[in-house]
Parts: sequence; C-alpha cells; structure tokens
Amino acid sequence: MAKALEITLVGAMIIGAVVLVKYKPAYEVMLSGEKLGYVEEKENLELEFNDYVENVTGNVAFREKTVLPEYELKLINRNKQTQEEEILLALETTVNTTYRTYAVVVNGQKQASVATEEEAKNMIDGIKSDIDANMIGLNIGIIEEYSNDLKVQSTEEASGILNTIKVAKIVEYNNEQETKRKAEEEEAKKKVIATKTVEHVGTIAGINLARPIKGVITSRYGSRSSIRSSAHTGLDIATGTGTPITPIAPGNVTFAGRKGSYGNLVIINHGNGIESYYAHCSEIYATVGQKVDSKTVISAVGSTGNSTGPHLHLEIRQNGTPLNPENYLY
Ligand SMILES: [Zn+2]
Repeated sequence: MAKALEITLVGAMIIGAVVLVKYKPAYEVMLSGEKLGYVEEKENLELEFNDYVENVTGNVAFREKTVLPEYELKLINRNKQTQEEEILLALETTVNTTYRTYAVVVNGQKQASVATEEEAKNMIDGIKSDIDANMIGLNIGIIEEYSNDLKVQSTEEASGILNTIKVAKIVEYNNEQETKRKAEEEEAKKKVIATKTVEHVGTIAGINLARPIKGVITSRYGSRSSIRSSAHTGLDIATGTGTPITPIAPGNVTFAGRKGSYGNLVIINHGNGIESYYAHCSEIYATVGQKVDSKTVISAVGSTGNSTGPHLHLEIRQNGTPLNPENYLY
C-alpha cells in the first residue's frame, strides 16, 4: 500500500516537473470580458497601472479608473511571450483624465486659456504694465478650469487676444473722455451766460429786447456787398468763432439747422408776429420746440453758409418782413 502511494507521488512529481519544463504560470488579463493577453506578474501590472493613475504632473489634475482588470491564473507555453506593455497601454486608455488649465477672464468673460498659472500671471502683468487697468475699465483675473479636454493657447496667442481687448478698451475710454470733455465745454459755455444779467436795450411790439452778442458791426441793414447782390436783410456783428449767442427775447425755437446761404441757422418765434434769425453759426445748441430766453445759449458764432469770416447775421422780422435791428438793439 505504501509502495503504491510512493509510486503515485513520484509519478505526480515527474509529471509536475515535465509540465514546468514546458509550461509556465501566467495571468490572463481581461477587461470587461475582453481578453487583453498575458502577464507574468499581476502585482507589477497593478503597481504600474496605479502609478499611472496616481502620479500626475503638468496639466493633469487627476485620473480615475473607469474599469478594473480581471485576472485568471493559467499555464502557458514557456516560449510564449507575455504582453505587459501592450496591456498597460490598453488599461491607460480606459482612464478618465481631468486637466487643469488657467483661464484669463476679462470683465467676467473668459478670453484665453494657458497651461500654467505663472504664464497667466506674467501675461496679465504685461497687459497692465503701461496702463491703469481700472481707469479704462479692464477688470482682468485668473480662474482655474477643469476639463476632460486639454485645450490651451500659447502665450503669444493668448497675449494677442488680450492686447486686442486692451486696445479696444483704451479707444473706448478715450472716446468717452472726449465726449465728456465736449459736454462739459458746452455746459460751461451755457453756464457763463446763465449767470449774466440780461440788459434790455430796446422794445418791439411790446417785447423787451437784449443783444445776442457783443461785437463789431461789419455790415448794416440794407447794404450791398461783393458777395450779396440784394439789399442786406439783417445786421452783421463780427466776433470770435465759438462766441455764445443768446436770443434777443424769450420765445420758441422754430428752426435749428442748415439753410442755404444762412449756413447754420436758428429761428425763434417771440409771439406778436416777431421772429429773430441767427445765421452763419459754427454750432447749434438749440432744438426745434425748445423754449428759450435771453440767457439760453442757442448757438455759437461761426462762418457757415455765405460768409467771409466769423460773424452773427441777426435778422428781426415782423409778420415776415425784415426790420432794421439797429433801430432796436445796437
Ligand atoms: Zn448778414
């Protein structure tokens, strides 16, 4: 009986030895039921796979395994090659990768993305180096972004985009400043007159009259000149371009715009059949329908229309017929 057991054991050992000469143990690796191949060391594969998932650098924020490999121990022909590298690459493709990038945000809108925070900071410092960003309304910052696609721009490309925005902001700021300056300038002109006391120097049809500007009379009512064939229907008072013009009396603006040889013209209806004309203006401030008085700046002295130099052509009409302003005002 002992002999038989001995023979069986020896036989088993011989068979075992023969098997190990011809075959080797290996792990068959499967992913979601699909056979990937064989590895000799399951632990090595696991270590390398874990290393790939956990040790992240650069723009990779983190990695997550989406599937786990399954193993089956088998005996394979000793001459058969195992596939460690291919299997590791196959496992790596199943991993979910999240990337971290740095977005440059201008006034709440993302404008560019770069790979590193340092790059983003340097770029912003460059943009702000020659301007007061707050003054021109350029609110610029960095935010961290996470995404499964790695989309970054080169510093050159990102800087180009930011510079374009900066230039547009500067232009916008300068335009705003210019508009503000002009508005203030016009406001100032009006204020100067608004503080003046109106001096009444004459009366027509029961309306008290004041002089619209001070200046030198260069052409009288009824006169003729080289540039005018018919008799002069008004009075020309010369003074510097831009001098504020105020109406001769309170009234309603009935015309404010360009009109033939008058150039820029303002017409005011004072009631009682009386109208006044202010011609050759460089600028018009009054608008049609506006109620004005002798403190309102309606326009500025100029040389528009048929004119040889800056002056106000003042016309006073009664029921449409021109009167001589000198009889009432100057
Ligand atoms: Zn004239």
